[in-house]
Amino acid sequence: MAIAPSNQTQRRGDVSVLVPPPAAPATPLSRCLGQIERRWKQEGHLASLWLAWPQLVGPQLAPHCRPLSLRGGTLLVGAAAGPWLQALQYNRHRLLGSLRGAGFAVRELRVQQQLPLALPAPAAEIEAASWAAHPSRVDVHGMVTCPCCARPAPAGELERWGRCSFCQRDRFAEAARAALMPGQASAAAKPSRAGPSQ
Ligand SMILES: [Zn+2]
Repeated sequence: MAIAPSNQTQRRGDVSVLVPPPAAPATPLSRCLGQIERRWKQEGHLASLWLAWPQLVGPQLAPHCRPLSLRGGTLLVGAAAGPWLQALQYNRHRLLGSLRGAGFAVRELRVQQQLPLALPAPAAEIEAASWAAHPSRVDVHGMVTCPCCARPAPAGELERWGRCSFCQRDRFAEAARAALMPGQASAAAKPSRAGPSQ
């Protein structure tokens, strides 16, 4: 038979009765959330990856790919077909480094194609065209730091655009939105950037 802890019993006459445990000391909600997040990260919980995803892959790529599972140190990421999938596959080692740097116990990264992204056709064509001539595809470049986002980037990308492909793609997307919806470009740009962790 289980014995109740002493702080959960009370003498009433000749009998001991069970009482509710004393209330835990109040902990600020932010600290609770931080503890949960740390535990998720230690346990390799997918939720912690979801939270950190926009920071890890960058705001441009984040809406087009997502972590699907994390088992035995292998992270499976689903990405939309086409340039997004290629971008993710090409940047796999970079992302792996970011994941490890952020404290995630990821040994291997696998990329899997998912349903196509819902970008309007002109923007998708611009993305595809930019990727077809992508300097980071054709050669092995040294790594430098992008002046826009301060993330590591292939030197070829900076030579060509003066910024990394993520930042450049952002510009393309912005231009496509402006062409499609004059006057609404900045409003349309907001939803994709407003992630839950921002
Ligand atoms: Zn950049």
